[in-house]
Amino acid sequence: MTEERVGVYVCHCGHNIAGTVDVEAVAQWAQTLPYVAVARDYRFMCSSLGQELIEKDIKELGLTRVVVAACSPHMHEPTFRGVSARAGLNPYLMEMANIREHASWVHRDDMAAATDKAKALVAGAVRRALELKPLEPFKAAIKETTLVVGGGIAGITAALEIANSGYPVIMVEREPSIGGHMAQLDKTFPTLDCSACILTPKMFDVGTHPNITLLTYSEVEQVDGYIGNFTVRVRKKARKINTDVCTGCGDCWSRCPAKVVDEGFEAGLGYRTAVYRPFPQAVPKYPVIDVENCIYFQKGTCRACEKFCPTGAISFDQEDEILVLSVGNIVLATGYKTFDPRQIPQYGYGRLANVFTSMEFERMVNAAGPTGGKVVLRDGVTTPKSVGIIHCVGSRDHRFNRYCSATCCMAALKFAHLVKERTEAEVYQFYIDMRASFKDYEEFYVRILEEGAHMVRGRVAEVTDAARQPGEEGKLIIQVEDTLIGRQRRIPVDMVILMVAMEPQEDAVEIAHRFGIGCSNAGFFIERHPKLDPVATMTDGIFIAGACQGPKDIPESVGQGAATAARVLSLIGQKEVEIEPIRAQIDESRCSGCRVCNTMCPYSAIDYIEDLGVSRVNPALCKGCGTCVAACPSQVISGQHFTYEAIMAQIEGLLYDVHAGNGHVTVVEPQPVEVA
Ligand SMILES: Cc1cc2nc3c(=O)[nH]c(=O)nc-3n(C[C@H](O)[C@H](O)[C@H](O)COP(=O)(O)OP(=O)(O)OC[C@H]3O[C@@H](n4cnc5c(N)ncnc54)[C@H](O)[C@@H]3O)c2cc1C
Ligand code: SF4
Ligand code: SF4
Repeated sequence: MTEERVGVYVCHCGHNIAGTVDVEAVAQWAQTLPYVAVARDYRFMCSSLGQELIEKDIKELGLTRVVVAACSPHMHEPTFRGVSARAGLNPYLMEMANIREHASWVHRDDMAAATDKAKALVAGAVRRALELKPLEPFKAAIKETTLVVGGGIAGITAALEIANSGYPVIMVEREPSIGGHMAQLDKTFPTLDCSACILTPKMFDVGTHPNITLLTYSEVEQVDGYIGNFTVRVRKKARKINTDVCTGCGDCWSRCPAKVVDEGFEAGLGYRTAVYRPFPQAVPKYPVIDVENCIYFQKGTCRACEKFCPTGAISFDQEDEILVLSVGNIVLATGYKTFDPRQIPQYGYGRLANVFTSMEFERMVNAAGPTGGKVVLRDGVTTPKSVGIIHCVGSRDHRFNRYCSATCCMAALKFAHLVKERTEAEVYQFYIDMRASFKDYEEFYVRILEEGAHMVRGRVAEVTDAARQPGEEGKLIIQVEDTLIGRQRRIPVDMVILMVAMEPQEDAVEIAHRFGIGCSNAGFFIERHPKLDPVATMTDGIFIAGACQGPKDIPESVGQGAATAARVLSLIGQKEVEIEPIRAQIDESRCSGCRVCNTMCPYSAIDYIEDLGVSRVNPALCKGCGTCVAACPSQVISGQHFTYEAIMAQIEGLLYDVHAGNGHVTVVEPQPVEVA
């Protein structure tokens, strides 16, 4: 090892690190460590000048290893690997010490401690760097087909962008039609365009595009593989309709005697039949039979739809189909669900008839909705004379969701406009803070104020029907502390609309596991980097778009859908990708064939080779997570780049006495584990 020459680069990260860590002292100290040929500090190591500094040293000083003490590898490992590669050094011989998150940010009040910890982290990184081995990424061809999961506006945008560029797309949507939540909306803020008018042409394009295969009423059950080569198992649920002959004429649903409350598209405000098409502009146009509510499936009688179907399309015997797809990239655009306001009983939803959710109101004001667009109370006929719209129901509330749902202030203003447009009612908005921060949103807010909406600042305590004073009888009374005038108020209204939070889908965590990506504490999918890589995930080849990543309005969802398409197209254009070589490896000569690793691997990447009686890792499927390395009782699996030697060396480095100045080390000798 005598010939190794390590370069250490300590970054100030502006004030982020240098405000707490004495970076110059760390660099000077690092210079005293064995094998360190040069140690420097610099204000922004990731800047072009910082990168050039490292490149120059590698070339001129003949460095064989590089240690960058800066921020998290999550942020800049690819940057500094790129620097090393450009200077002719194998990129896997670069190691990072995270002295920002692990030192300066966690020891803000103690510069001496932060500096000592930074030195220990650098020492650990230097020792580990000396144990690293050069690795070569392997290449894999990229399949041109892309899978888009979720047919809301984000998924529709991604699919059309990719398909219009000439590449095949398979869209999987679990509902009977694409369209997502946007299909339920009436007008869209801030421009008040009719949602259906801007959405349905795009839905039609998806349904008829020669490059798009649309699988509705379908769900992904299993995903294997890696960027460029995913194998996906999809369950195509039985519609009980033969779509080859169905014309979507509607004779079946117009004769179906089974009526059920439509909790899906009509948000519980309207009814549908057991054989149904969710809405007139649905794509595809074919209905489905909801077997749970179909009289024939439940009681063995009826078959009215079959009798009246002019083309013989009803197919009660149809079974689910399993399709196995081969795709190169995946876009997840699975959207959001809305908060159930029954969790806040004091707002009376489900108990007080005239308390509505925002999605119910969307359906009510929709000309194609259950009331034909009339704003009426639950009795279906009475027009309200006053309406209270309560913001932040389930958002910005530590009991439910701490985050802001980002769209409801604007949707609430839109509702104020629609109520004014269709009734003579007074409208009261109950808000905590008004958030109208994107293009034309503030102007929309001002317009609604000019239309005469009353704004009351304060979180509503209660909605009650218990009248206390004249004028409150027969009304819903909104009890609130008006923080602008510093007074408790009771405002009687006829109708209350709850602006419910946007939440992750019920199965978001399960879907994240299935696709090998992460979820935030709130439950939304996590992006690779919140600022610089908002549509990629930590799994190469899997992208996220729209409200599955967090609350978003339509323009933002469209922007993300298009961004995922750009990322996918750039990968397809490369024809092949480099795959990280950090994988597990089994020393077959010492493998006892116990198969413990086979069952532990979360990616099913380990096969048992019967003839040889040993296990073997499939590097294409292995994600380098290290589960098998830890599990192997014979200690014969090593994680490349995270070898036993490298980890032990790093621990030894961390145990350096940073005050000794000469790199005194407490040596921990690795002890082989005895195997019975
Ligand atoms: C009351 C209300 C009013 C709003 N009004 C406006 C407005 O006026 N203007 C505006 O800009 N925004 C508005 N929004 C926000 C708007 O609804 C969203 O921005 C938009 O719908 C997000 O689109 P999306 O494609 O990300 O998700 P979604 O619309 O939720 O679509 C996701 C799709 O994925 C499907 N899916 C889910 N899971 C799976 C799975 N596992 N497999 C297959 N498919 C799956 C779903 O069935 C759905 O079709 C409003 C929101 C609310 C709650
Ligand atoms: S058989 Fe089922 S779907 Fe068909 S008409 Fe009767 S209840 Fe409706
Ligand atoms: S967008 Fe407005 S109403 Fe919605 S949660 Fe945020 S602050 Fe509340």
